[in-house]
Amino acid sequence: MNNTEFDAIVVGSGPGGATVARELSKRGKRLLILERGGNAPLKGSLLATASIVDAVSVGDNVLMGRTLTTGGTTSVYFGATVPPPLETFLALGIDLSRELDDVERELPLAVLPDELLRPHSIRLRESATALGYDWVQSKMLVDQSKCASGYTPEARWTARNYVQEAVEKGATLINRARVLKVLVEKGRAIGVEYELQKTKKESEIRQAFGTKVIVAAGGAASPIILRKSGIRNVADRGFYCHPSVMVFGTISGLKRGDGFGASMGTLIDGDIHVGDGNFARTLYQLFMLANHRWFRAFLHSKTIGVGVMVREGLGGGLQENDRYYKELTKEDFRKLEKGEEVARQIIRHAGGKNIFKSVVGASHLGGAIRIKEHLDENLETECSNLHVCDGSVLPENVNTPTLTLICLGKYLAKRLSRSL
Ligand SMILES: Cc1cc2nc3c(=O)[nH]c(=O)nc-3n(C[C@H](O)[C@H](O)[C@H](O)COP(=O)(O)OP(=O)(O)OC[C@H]3O[C@@H](n4cnc5c(N)ncnc54)[C@H](O)[C@@H]3O)c2cc1C
Repeated sequence: MNNTEFDAIVVGSGPGGATVARELSKRGKRLLILERGGNAPLKGSLLATASIVDAVSVGDNVLMGRTLTTGGTTSVYFGATVPPPLETFLALGIDLSRELDDVERELPLAVLPDELLRPHSIRLRESATALGYDWVQSKMLVDQSKCASGYTPEARWTARNYVQEAVEKGATLINRARVLKVLVEKGRAIGVEYELQKTKKESEIRQAFGTKVIVAAGGAASPIILRKSGIRNVADRGFYCHPSVMVFGTISGLKRGDGFGASMGTLIDGDIHVGDGNFARTLYQLFMLANHRWFRAFLHSKTIGVGVMVREGLGGGLQENDRYYKELTKEDFRKLEKGEEVARQIIRHAGGKNIFKSVVGASHLGGAIRIKEHLDENLETECSNLHVCDGSVLPENVNTPTLTLICLGKYLAKRLSRSL
């Protein structure tokens, strides 16, 4: 491969990377997508899901889940959305309003009717509403035209859809390609170095060259790639991870039927989010097994769940050994406890019994790369032609980040295509 092979190299194919790749391919640009994970069909079985899910440690026994496969973590996400915080981005010099209009026109984005929701989610909504909580139902990225005969998980939009569109328009996708660093010459990105996993035991170091490099390897991986590429001060103010707990109870009398879950909730005191935690069966089972609740893993239809997530400030850091570490504060724990209390109340009122909570986890990692500090309004680093577009650049007040990342990907692609 030589310098003129690609207009752009996209590292990672989650919603950030997939959107940039799709938009640039649609504009006729020559694209290379390097994806660390494989490209096996998303079967949804326990083994298949376990093989793509990975956990990143962010503190003492605090893990964050991500997915290593084409489409990134949207391969297992719920499909819920919240509108991007337009004001926050405007203050950073980025106007996402046009991109949001485009996404609303292009993607199936709507509040789902009750027929497509899990009966458990409906019971939870009744309980929360009766207790006086403002239980808001968010729009989901679900193509309801595929649900004529009822719930089907394939109706959920994932970033894989955009990768497929990019490939149809001529983009090259290489799977099992883990980018190690960006190649920089005279302060300018010229390509990447990556490890291609050829077989289980055999790998090979390769290089690829392109005019622009867009790092979109997710909140955990991108800061590491940037640091290895010589970008200064990465994670110098630490990171946020939005700590969370899940609270579950057993419940009887609900229909076994499956449906979309995890699309409703309420905000308490401005930064404690309490919401529907009724996952699809496979994810539920994985979660229970990870929490050593072997018996509960078989009680999916008899379990009702509420998730609690709190927004915390920046802190901790990215250590020399590429591990993230942060100690949660007393205030973070107090907020988690307050959310847990509300979750228990809603579950009890819904008829739930044998209530228990999971260990503390992390919802998503971000804040290690900051717009206006590490990136300009073109999402470009101090090294020219090197851009970042994924969860690592999102400000603290973004949760449920997928819609924001799709808008950000469209925004970046528009800017890049002007100079390509
Ligand atoms: C269980 C669960 C449910 C969720 N539900 C929702 C929801 O309902 N709504 C919502 O908005 N968000 C949800 N999220 C969060 C959402 O999925 C993520 O925030 C989003 O996918 C982040 O996008 P990203 O592009 O930053 O990273 P990712 O989606 O993680 O994509 C990064 C990609 O880069 C690849 N990669 C990593 N390292 C390298 C490397 N060195 N070289 C090449 N490729 C690499 C990875 O394999 C991956 O494909 C959920 C998350 C989880 C775990």
